[in-house]
Amino acid sequence: MDKTFHIITFGCQMNVGDSDWLARALCARGWRQVAERDAWLFVVNTCSVREKPEQKVYSELGRLAAYQRGKPGLMAAVGGCVAQQIGAGFFDRFPFVRLVFGSDGIAGAPDALDELAADPKARKTLLDFMASYPEREDVLSPLAEAPAPAFDADAGEPDAGPAQAFVNIMQGCDNFCAYCIVPYTRGRQKSRAPEAVLAECRARVEQGAREITLLGQNVNSYGLDPSAQSGGLGMGFAQLLRQVAAIPGLERLRFTTSHPKDIDPAVIRAFGELENLCPALHLPLQAGSDAVLRRMGRKYDRSKYLQIVQDLRVARPDMALTTDLIVGFPGETEDDFAQTLEMMERVGFESSFSFRYSDRPGVAAVRMTPKVPGDVAQERLLRLQSLQNGITKQTLKRLEGREAVVLLEAKSRRQDGGTPSWRGRDEAGRVVNIRLEDGCTSGRELAGLMVRARIVEAKNHSLIGERVGQPW
Ligand code: SF4
Repeated sequence: MDKTFHIITFGCQMNVGDSDWLARALCARGWRQVAERDAWLFVVNTCSVREKPEQKVYSELGRLAAYQRGKPGLMAAVGGCVAQQIGAGFFDRFPFVRLVFGSDGIAGAPDALDELAADPKARKTLLDFMASYPEREDVLSPLAEAPAPAFDADAGEPDAGPAQAFVNIMQGCDNFCAYCIVPYTRGRQKSRAPEAVLAECRARVEQGAREITLLGQNVNSYGLDPSAQSGGLGMGFAQLLRQVAAIPGLERLRFTTSHPKDIDPAVIRAFGELENLCPALHLPLQAGSDAVLRRMGRKYDRSKYLQIVQDLRVARPDMALTTDLIVGFPGETEDDFAQTLEMMERVGFESSFSFRYSDRPGVAAVRMTPKVPGDVAQERLLRLQSLQNGITKQTLKRLEGREAVVLLEAKSRRQDGGTPSWRGRDEAGRVVNIRLEDGCTSGRELAGLMVRARIVEAKNHSLIGERVGQPW
């Protein structure tokens, strides 16, 4: 079998980070990342957060099955949250699926794929949860000699540029929010040893990363899980953040996701103290009504959330806040929903991910009543999204005329055939598209460079900038 692979990733940044690690680990073993049409191995990295996640994965595998009929011998691996739920059930329905791995099992996936490539009849599952963070092999050291994953137009644009790195600091979650399947699919919280986090961050910076995003389901509770406490981790998230921020050469630091109940005042202060900590925070609110928050098991209320927002803005007045919201949670009344709209306006979220509640097997909210009828929930979702669109537009409009430093990621998705346009992000993570004339590029690859830009136009969800000075 030709050792070529293509990864299809659904879901959150943790999945994006997992796929990135897996790609590098496979490349270190002699595999090549290629466009879909050339691949012999497909890895589908799944997510259960959005609606109908299983159907989505089945439909993707159905599409690959049709493709496989013209390419006998092609194999697939399914990883992530849906893989953890369905397990070996994938083998019956899709015989070309030969590996199913969960979020702890991913550490063993590269070796398993090598074995499966050598033995076309074998199948494997890697679904056990570990007691502590399953450290993955280092695919970044010069010894590993892993080529950077190759992306091309058909293989899909990378989610981040070459100067951006995602580093896991923990796995799993202990919170059991009433609607969420993560503690069942990713297991209980396990913090990664700080030495391992710092070593990976240093290595990524040495290899050219200018921006690092620390990842975890709930980074604010880093170090508080039983495995960390018994292992004497000796460090909370605020300390870890400071140590990562102090790495020479690191220009931008971000982290996600934060649970409001666990955010430490020392983390809030860090936004005002650490120069390279970006002024942006994704702080999931989920609902604006205390009654709904209580039923969700979120363990904070509106006033605590608003206090955090106020403290963040005192620490860093230019802080950009984004959030997650669920509408139509069981028992949500029109008044509860009106409070969510009111919180959205009061905080002025720059953007939000919003979903209609849907039952996930095994979670507490399945048993909660009354359920909100689908058409009511859908209508509320549209109202919420329309309000958000208006706030996003106003926020971006206010930036016209200002300057921003943009870290270039890749060529913009839309090109009109004239001067090439490049896509990047400002310090707060907003997408900025900038035209960079030939004289500036001199044929050089610009991804990974920083450009000072003046914002000349606000689009609905992004900004248009004009370069000011030279890239650096
Ligand atoms: S904090 Fe709640 S919503 Fe977030 S992953 Fe954990 S259980 Fe799910």
